[in-house]
Amino acid sequence: MKIICIGLNYSDHAREMGKPLPREPLVFLKPDSSLLKKNKPFFIPAFSGNIHYEAEIVLRICKLGRSIAEKYASRYYDSITLGMDMTARDLQSSLSAAGKPWEIAKSFDGAAPLGEFISLDEAGDVNNISFRLEKNGKTVQKGNTSLLIFSFNSIISCVSRFFTLKTGDLIFTGTPSGVGPVNRNDRLTGYIGDRKVIDFMIK
Ligand code: ZN
Repeated sequence: MKIICIGLNYSDHAREMGKPLPREPLVFLKPDSSLLKKNKPFFIPAFSGNIHYEAEIVLRICKLGRSIAEKYASRYYDSITLGMDMTARDLQSSLSAAGKPWEIAKSFDGAAPLGEFISLDEAGDVNNISFRLEKNGKTVQKGNTSLLIFSFNSIISCVSRFFTLKTGDLIFTGTPSGVGPVNRNDRLTGYIGDRKVIDFMIK
């Protein structure tokens, strides 16, 4: 399986990063070795002194498809959860300043903690899903999918022009503003609506 991620997909986050709004989805991948499931702890890697959390709605692909038209895209995912696009911000900044790919800053082991999936029925209107992340019990990120620059359907349509989507593939759809650093013994808890879907420790 593969993990497809979309960067800068909320304008408030693009603003906090000092980046212009993308005209096309900004796409990168994480390998399956970055997955961290079942609320297992995240271990801060030795190569970074500045790991950030980014809470994102994640789609689970349920059907094989390529070059999917936007009007049919909603048939290609069947459940959602919250995932963390853990980012070695120091590595990402230095690599991108040097004009190099920053893939390793987001694709290292454990860089994709993944919550428990909920069905689309439970999630409600996919264009109006609110979610939030708490760090040590304090809300640090709040988002709503009505504020996405590229909707779920438009993301699926766009990325399937380049990658065949397969059952079990995941799409991280971007993070709202409020990203920030984690330290040892922090606890991250994420909610879709009022439902807790992820809850893990930083070690
Ligand atoms: Zn992200």
